[in-house]
Amino acid sequence: MPTLSVSQISSVVGGKLQSDGNGSDSFISSISIDSRTIFDPASSVFFALKSERNDGHRYIPDLVHLGVRFFVVSDYLDEYQSCTNCSFIVVADTLKALQKLAAWHRSQFQIPVVGITGSNGKTIVKEWLFDLLHDRAVLRSPKSYNSQVGVPLSVWNLRPDYELAIFEAGISNSGEMENLFEIIRPTIGILTNIGEAHQENFKSHQEKLEEKLLLFKSCETLIYCKDQPLVHAEISKGIVIPEGKAFGWSFDDEAANLYLRKNEVGAGVEISTEFEGKKYTIEFPFQDAASLENAGHCLAFILTQHLADDAVIEKFHRLQPVAMRLEIKEGVNSCLLINDYYNSDINSLQIALGFLNNHAQHPYLGKTVILSDIQQAGISDEQLYSEVARLLQLNKTSHLIGIGLRIRKYADLFEKSSTFFESTDQFLESVQPDQFRQECILLKGARDFHFERISSVLQKKYHQTVLEIDLNAMIGNLNFFRSLIRPETRVMVMVKAFSYGSGMAEIARILQFHKVDYLAVAVADEGIELRQAGIDLPIVVMNPEEHSFENMIEFRLEPNIYSEDIFDSFRKVLQQHAVVRYPIHLKIDTGMHRLGFDSVEKVEKLVSKLIVQDEMVVRSVFSHLAGADEAVHDEFTSSQIQRFQELSSMITEKLSYQIFRHILNSAGIERFPEFQFEMVRLGIGLYGVSLCGNQQVKSMSRLKTSISQIRKIEAGQTVGYGRKGVAREDSEIAVLPIGYADGYDRRLSNGVGKVFVNGRIASVIGNICMDMCMIDVTGLQVAVGDEVELMGEHILVSDMAETIGTIPYEILTGISQRVKRIYLQE
Ligand SMILES: *Cc1c(COP(=O)(O)O)cnc(C)c1O
Repeated sequence: MPTLSVSQISSVVGGKLQSDGNGSDSFISSISIDSRTIFDPASSVFFALKSERNDGHRYIPDLVHLGVRFFVVSDYLDEYQSCTNCSFIVVADTLKALQKLAAWHRSQFQIPVVGITGSNGKTIVKEWLFDLLHDRAVLRSPKSYNSQVGVPLSVWNLRPDYELAIFEAGISNSGEMENLFEIIRPTIGILTNIGEAHQENFKSHQEKLEEKLLLFKSCETLIYCKDQPLVHAEISKGIVIPEGKAFGWSFDDEAANLYLRKNEVGAGVEISTEFEGKKYTIEFPFQDAASLENAGHCLAFILTQHLADDAVIEKFHRLQPVAMRLEIKEGVNSCLLINDYYNSDINSLQIALGFLNNHAQHPYLGKTVILSDIQQAGISDEQLYSEVARLLQLNKTSHLIGIGLRIRKYADLFEKSSTFFESTDQFLESVQPDQFRQECILLKGARDFHFERISSVLQKKYHQTVLEIDLNAMIGNLNFFRSLIRPETRVMVMVKAFSYGSGMAEIARILQFHKVDYLAVAVADEGIELRQAGIDLPIVVMNPEEHSFENMIEFRLEPNIYSEDIFDSFRKVLQQHAVVRYPIHLKIDTGMHRLGFDSVEKVEKLVSKLIVQDEMVVRSVFSHLAGADEAVHDEFTSSQIQRFQELSSMITEKLSYQIFRHILNSAGIERFPEFQFEMVRLGIGLYGVSLCGNQQVKSMSRLKTSISQIRKIEAGQTVGYGRKGVAREDSEIAVLPIGYADGYDRRLSNGVGKVFVNGRIASVIGNICMDMCMIDVTGLQVAVGDEVELMGEHILVSDMAETIGTIPYEILTGISQRVKRIYLQE
């Protein structure tokens, strides 16, 4: 790891150092932008990044508490002066500072550096090159760290031992590539392709292409696929890169710099070519166009860089699909499994340990790491495993299981409690799943170790129908809604009804980390469940019931007081327990005609009672809009808001302390942000549905299953109960293990429901049964075991709802508890 003193960093980034004590001589080795991935608090510097949507300065007090002492900030707050032994580097823009530091670090190295950009395939090409060149000391960006933030963090990992570095660069706006160019300064470029991805902010593909090419300004060689006409035409102009430096390969054009002849063999492809007078043949295990394109880039790179020895050529045959995400699953005996077994190098180990830390909180009792040999050339095994041992120790791992001959050889470096196996097979022979109990288990291994086999032993067995929750998409949605309101406006997130079907503790924990201000549940039991899972945020109970008042007080749950009766009876319970200043929330009915105080008289009476008591303090006053998503109701919505202002001010004016006012739900935030008052209540938008059709709100839950059986039926035969599904022609029918008891609505029967399978849309045939349903897959070439999406990115929940005359809320919350939730996070 690079080490620099705090004052050196300050001068590289052009900051002003505010230091307490002599911290400025201290050396730092890690940089961080995310408090979850800080391992070595004493020698890390935290960059408080600010985006339109989030602000790293918020995390500083927590980090000081954790032992972090060095910060790069753009706002130097008075409170920082009281942080003893801390140094603050004050700059105008913390992201720019991070980029400057990385660019400076890059300038210290003379090795070949590959820059990869393009619309699709960047991460796969990078991972495949890394696998192919596995015997060399190659650094690559971890996961898909390719953004304005990810690239500097990747480049920071450069060390003198590396012979080659591969970084990917992704952009979504014009002007961004110039920054990434300064940081990466690639000597070799790969342009994967130009397609639809991230098109929103560009006028045309041409404009996006021109921007992307800026990465390659200083390259000695630019590899691209000549079969892409737009790309070829632009590069041929020779504007960005002189003609002699562009290297176009092709499957079609024999006159290309490199012509690849392909021949399908079995399930794969044989690719043959000739380069600099030498013939090469590679065997490649996939036939789809995208994989072939990625393989073409890898091959062109390896040939032009003279790295194509027999061992490398042979490895093409063993390339595997790249999974880019960590998977979080329920394990046996109340364990939690974190699967990250597609690569293993020290940088990605560090990231994975960060996730482990973040998840291994109450109720989990221990942290277990199952780790294979690490793929890291360039440093000695002894150094490598000492570093691994140090990371595990910093991370307070309770138990290490090392798998592989190399890690086993260094067993002495690790804690005594560690156990070692020579192979995955040997581990599987001896493992008893019952030896794991209520632990958080990280499975981190190189692909060759096939840790998916361990995962399938340790994972809780459930049927194949699952609801996948994309936590990154959820955070993206949270940040999108935050971007619509002022930074100081509070956010209450509605996590009622199992967070609209997506889960309780997992979701709340992420929201807590991302500093939402309040959670709201429907009933006390939901709030208690959150408290028992260790959630500390304030929680409002929307429908408090009298019998649960004592529980609510015990678990610090704050009631919605919506009538005089509730006020009186809650007050009585507080008095019995001698509780004072208990936070409550007051609901005003402005036209929904559900719960709430609905007249000047009732509010006056309430206020007269409020001012003479001290059992309660009013935290907030709120109301709910009945039709915020529909323009036809705009006049009514305005009248509701006006009424709210009138009635709420009667309360806020009479009480001398601060009371938050709030009326906007998700659609309200999107359509009437000017009425955000001091807080908003976010619900369905967080979970991926914009009732206003806003494209920036991304689907975050995916209901999927896999095909149990396929059969052929003849024209005229029928499918399912009531013989409702009649085959018009000879057909192929696939059976899916999901039915209305799983929440797959029976109104989707008989062609109404659509599913996504093998890249195509298929329809439900016949009536949906309790635990199963059938789809018509005639001509779609599907197989038993193939994955089927019933709801998600391709089958939008809003479309589904519309076809059966309901709303997305009903579909999301209707997915039954027997469908297991799996959480994905990048
Ligand atoms: C559920 C609920 C919300 C959230 O509504 P969305 O339309 O999902 O954003 C807000 N306020 C109250 C009182 C609710 O019950």
